[in-house]
Amino acid sequence: MAAVFAILGWDMISAPVSRAVTGGLMYNPWKGSALSEGGNWGDHIGRSSGGGNDYPFGSGTHIVAPATGTLRKTGGSGEFLAGDAGGAGTRYILELDNPVNRVLDAVAGEGGGPLVALAFQHLSSGQPSGHYNAGSHVVTSGDTGDGPAHFHIHGLNSSGQRLRFLAFINADGPGVPSAATSGNGEDMPIVIRLGSTGSWPGTYSVSQGFIRRWNMSTADSQNRIADAQFLAATWNPSGEIEDVTMAKFRAILDALDIPHADPGTPATSALPLSPETQWSRMEQIRAAVAP
Ligand SMILES: [Zn+2]
Repeated sequence: MAAVFAILGWDMISAPVSRAVTGGLMYNPWKGSALSEGGNWGDHIGRSSGGGNDYPFGSGTHIVAPATGTLRKTGGSGEFLAGDAGGAGTRYILELDNPVNRVLDAVAGEGGGPLVALAFQHLSSGQPSGHYNAGSHVVTSGDTGDGPAHFHIHGLNSSGQRLRFLAFINADGPGVPSAATSGNGEDMPIVIRLGSTGSWPGTYSVSQGFIRRWNMSTADSQNRIADAQFLAATWNPSGEIEDVTMAKFRAILDALDIPHADPGTPATSALPLSPETQWSRMEQIRAAVAP
């Protein structure tokens, strides 16, 4: 990536590469699952539940840990209480090894600061208290407390204020600290925009061997443009999407081992856009932004 920084004229020494995501890692094990009807954060706040997300899982569904931490089935107080939590049913608390930093802006009803613990509610059972790695089965969904059977999750900050856990997702899965979470500047993606006069106009995120086009023109989805702006603010040393010429664009692709067509080839299909799964973190972010 250093070569790319040089191409863009960014100073590797002074570049604030720590703009990359830092803190603990957390992924969304239920990325492909829709929330329950009325299960998003706003719905919870609307009915004065305190906040959370619900998934329509039946009793007996194995729930895995979104992050590594220590599971507690009893003890604690207030929002950190584990055990019988009244209308919340049986609640387990997973205290994370490393606080996770926010990825998406807070919405109404959320506390501030890093996410230090996760609360799982309405459970039928769970594993013994102890330390578990991300991706490990920790609890089992149920219909305790206010039913019907479903799985409720929310995050907590150190003050016990609830957090929208989907706003803290910054990894693809257990043991996969993707390029998106690297802070060393080597694997860190950058976001560049090729002017509309180029053969492949659009906004791209690029990293070693990977490229993704976020939009082809300003007429494209505003969500995608917002995604690209978010990425740039997070990853680019300048904090902004970098406008590049076609020549610079090709140089970047070469530096990152991204194959591309010969100069002058206009077909966008000639550019080896990565499958969605190769940039799944942004899919998670987009999913979290959705209602
Ligand atoms: Zn709920």
